[in-house]
Amino acid sequence: MEDVYKHFHRYPELSGAEEKTAARILEELQRFPDWEVTSTIGGYGITAVRRNGDGPAVLMRADFDGLPVAENTDVDYKSQHSQLNALGQRVPTMHACGHDHHTTSLLGAMALLEDSAERWAGTVIALFQPAEELSVGAFRMVGDGLAQKIPKPDVCLTQHIIAGPAGKIFSAAGPVMTSSTTIEITLFGRGAHASMPHRSVDPVVLAASTIMRLQTIVSREVPPDKFAVITVASVEAGKANNVIPDSAKISLSCRFYDEELRLKCIEAIKRIVRAEVAAAGAEREPEFKFVGLLGATNNSDTVFRTIRPHFDEVFGEDSEDMEPWTASEDFSVIPKHFGVPYLLWTVGITPRAKWQRAQAAGRLDIDIPTNHNPAFLPELSTLEVGARAAATGILACLGAQWAPGEDTTQGGPTAAEIDAVAVETAPAD
Ligand SMILES: [Zn+2]
Ligand SMILES: [Zn+2]
Repeated sequence: MEDVYKHFHRYPELSGAEEKTAARILEELQRFPDWEVTSTIGGYGITAVRRNGDGPAVLMRADFDGLPVAENTDVDYKSQHSQLNALGQRVPTMHACGHDHHTTSLLGAMALLEDSAERWAGTVIALFQPAEELSVGAFRMVGDGLAQKIPKPDVCLTQHIIAGPAGKIFSAAGPVMTSSTTIEITLFGRGAHASMPHRSVDPVVLAASTIMRLQTIVSREVPPDKFAVITVASVEAGKANNVIPDSAKISLSCRFYDEELRLKCIEAIKRIVRAEVAAAGAEREPEFKFVGLLGATNNSDTVFRTIRPHFDEVFGEDSEDMEPWTASEDFSVIPKHFGVPYLLWTVGITPRAKWQRAQAAGRLDIDIPTNHNPAFLPELSTLEVGARAAATGILACLGAQWAPGEDTTQGGPTAAEIDAVAVETAPAD
């Protein structure tokens, strides 16, 4: 596993451009002659299906794309790779979210399952997914007829590594990762010479007051015990010091666990933006473009209750409750497509001594790199933990009974809403 992992880690590829990573996964899959492999599903997506007699069908998904981040670690297998991004610029690439770990762990779990094939029955589907970081990989696999290429799963699983004590397995029922709504808002004013503000409707001032007023949604409209994030992460206006531009663009990233609250906040955003536009005296209505929409990851109670006792047995004290994570994931697109329950759990990868030092000093937020940080680096011993956790989850589900159509109502944006956004945002290959 270490060799395979180090190879993936050295050569991270950007979302949608994972050609060599997919080729290496296919090469590794040649070690598993009893698994029926299908490739190029929705881009570089791959499935491997092991049919082993009568029993449930369990799907486990691992993603495999990297990020445009320059790695800042001192290991000899650090990435020095770079790639052209969608704009044609060469950027350094890094497995800063640990998707190389997920993929290696799933291959490891396949080996464990293969070694014990006489002791379980059913069907296992290993699914290797590209383009998670753009939130389009799962949509593309589903959209490319995934359901016609693999047996229908009864349950879907995935795991994600996180900053946390190495080897801990965190799991919980209910919402564990947020929904994500990305909105680009264009504010139209009237351009003029910078010395003649009275001839303009200044979109820079309009954007500034809008941004400040948007802060009041979470602080004044959301109940204090509810989770919501509305971040204005990008502001663009003007190119010259002596020109008042005629428009400004702000981009918002919004996160929620609760779908009702999400809809309420989206309405509040529109209300505030329209009111600020009116207050500025702008004539043209603002434009709202939804450029990203993912549902929350809402873990099934049934799957949790099926797997957790096995995690407790295999990992003992290292099996703990998962705190909800404010990041978002496109994994749930796959189980929602099949209408089946699912579970996402996390695996800690930070060396324990380092974690304990930082915790004792009250410096966890400062000293421990999180996912997407250039210094994020899993301890190698956690590869085995990832493989064992995956195999444990799969075997637990193979040993359970799954009623058809159980537990599929997860709330969240409708499939049509999400599809509309996914099609709009899918970059050209
Ligand atoms: Zn990520
Ligand atoms: Zn990730």
